[in-house]
Amino acid sequence: MNKTTTPPLGTCTLVGAGPGDPELLTLKAVKAIQVATVLLVDDLVNDEVLAWARPDARIVHVGKRGGCKSTPQAFIEKLMVTAVREGEHVVRLKGGDPFIFGRGGEEVEHLRAEGIACQVINGITAGLAAVTSLGVPLTHRDHAHGVVFMTGHAKPGHAAMDWRQVGASAHGLGLTLVVYMGVGAAEQIADGLLQAMPADTLVAIIENASRPGQRHATTRLDQFVRTLVDGELGSPAVIVVGDVLRAMASANFSAQTAALADSHEERRLG
Ligand code: SAH
Repeated sequence: MNKTTTPPLGTCTLVGAGPGDPELLTLKAVKAIQVATVLLVDDLVNDEVLAWARPDARIVHVGKRGGCKSTPQAFIEKLMVTAVREGEHVVRLKGGDPFIFGRGGEEVEHLRAEGIACQVINGITAGLAAVTSLGVPLTHRDHAHGVVFMTGHAKPGHAAMDWRQVGASAHGLGLTLVVYMGVGAAEQIADGLLQAMPADTLVAIIENASRPGQRHATTRLDQFVRTLVDGELGSPAVIVVGDVLRAMASANFSAQTAALADSHEERRLG
């Protein structure tokens, strides 16, 4: 008689790969990568972290950069489920932290619905690393009571963000705004925030935080879009708005003029 056997279930772990610098991986992330037999890798993940993977691990890039079309989310989720059912130890590597704007929540819910438990390992989120790289303490108590992580990119079909209201809350309550995926919506963000915040509110744009090509510009809210365009700053970048930028420990910073600097160059020059 032909008896079919089902392999024992594998495991699934969502791992935050951090903002780019491979040394910002947590030990827990490294351990998970080392035992993975299948790695599904997002496009914002620095490939250098794959040096920790087993030589025989199957590595699948599911990102949309480099001119390739993004792998549909549903397909990624299906891949995860199939691999776990085949007994694989699946690591889903995501940029920054898996639960900060990374659709990690959707993936965990999908797996749960399929009866598969998923472990989640935090990573350092890009917004935090970006601000720290400027020498700015995100919640310096002289300047801010808290911080808000925002997305500049509403889910398709959802109403666009009311940036005037966001600005009013941030200004009224003393909150630092850290905007992810905001470059494409820079004009709407600036227009809305300017209705509720002073024109000289400080803004920083940090591109490729913690990577060798990191660049940043600091400016005022009313010059934000011009600074972005003139500096040719693009994705991946975070936009930081708020008085906490006054704590920026950089000699070249001026609230009046938009400065564009390669921070690695700055570091070399000391
Ligand atoms: N889960 C990720 C965010 C994913 S959303 C995290 O926690 O960091 C993707 C957005 O993150 C990008 O559009 C950009 O706004 C930001 N981002 C990711 N990596 C970045 C980096 N190295 N430098 C600046 N911004 C980055």
